[in-house]
Amino acid sequence: MGPVGFRAADVRSEECIRFMKESIDECCREHPGCATHPNGFIPTRLIYVGEGKNALRLCDNIPSGGDITWAALSHCWGGGKPLSLTKSVLSSLKERIDFSELPPTFQDAITVTQKLGLAYVWIDSLCIVQDDKTDWEKEAALMGEVYSRAFIVISGASSPNPSTPYLRPREEEWLPKQFNFPIAPGANIPIMVRQRHLLAAPLDQGLLEPPFTGSWATLKKVGPLYARGWCFQESFLAPRILNFAPGAIIYECQTHRKSEDQLPPYPSTVPGSLGEVTPLEQWHMIVKSYTSRQLTFTSDKLPAIAGAATIMPQVKTSKYLAGLWSESLLLDLLVRTSKNFPTK
Ligand SMILES: [Zn+2]
Repeated sequence: MGPVGFRAADVRSEECIRFMKESIDECCREHPGCATHPNGFIPTRLIYVGEGKNALRLCDNIPSGGDITWAALSHCWGGGKPLSLTKSVLSSLKERIDFSELPPTFQDAITVTQKLGLAYVWIDSLCIVQDDKTDWEKEAALMGEVYSRAFIVISGASSPNPSTPYLRPREEEWLPKQFNFPIAPGANIPIMVRQRHLLAAPLDQGLLEPPFTGSWATLKKVGPLYARGWCFQESFLAPRILNFAPGAIIYECQTHRKSEDQLPPYPSTVPGSLGEVTPLEQWHMIVKSYTSRQLTFTSDKLPAIAGAATIMPQVKTSKYLAGLWSESLLLDLLVRTSKNFPTK
């Protein structure tokens, strides 16, 4: 038990929007470690949302070098076939995207992007041509840049599929409950209780969650997206991320984490504060965490972690070999059995 802060009953509330804006403003204003360093990269395609919901359109072949900032969506594809970019609809989506035809998770991404005052959002299934293998391979290779160069990543963590919005009223189980606590015969005081949105995790498990921070490393976020393979590198690469987890919004950047209902004792933490974690150990943690997640298609296994490899320190000194590094190849190939592994 401990003190709790305010948790809004509806993620669409003014309080939630204010939390998002204030967290980002504070990050831009007060975190020198979070300053972005533009390298001229701009995604091949972006969805323009700068003039309201009735003027959405797909921008194709955006020239590089301009001053363009974008949000990128990290989400569960789930079942069903939401509106996606195919060769046959490319030209019509460049004219206009109908907001009402988009699945709720995409609509929410557009709403959040607009509330934050950004003009562009990147959504994988609308920005990569889904029935063009050449385009898919080219754009999948750029996804590391798309997420790591985004102004912010919007993580629809509480949505198990595109048809479940994450901007919605909170489920009853996450709301505070009041009961009377007896302190003396005939005397009660009202107590508010509620479910935790971060779970204490075994240290080893917590450490596997990037960015390997100190005191937060033993806390694990709750939500269907965190079991998904593709989402791993999306959150790993994000310079800033708004997690719409089931119990609360959690803001993370390069140097801080903050939750919507934060009160002390959740301190700010600094990546690498564990001190002695070497790049090789970090990579092994990443691989271990990543391979415990689910991927629908086995063929996605290497593409969905290749982006994370591009920002490892090893890139400067070693050759990346499909999940392994040339300078630590023998160690990377080692297999360790668990204590309970049968020996007979
Ligand atoms: Zn920051």
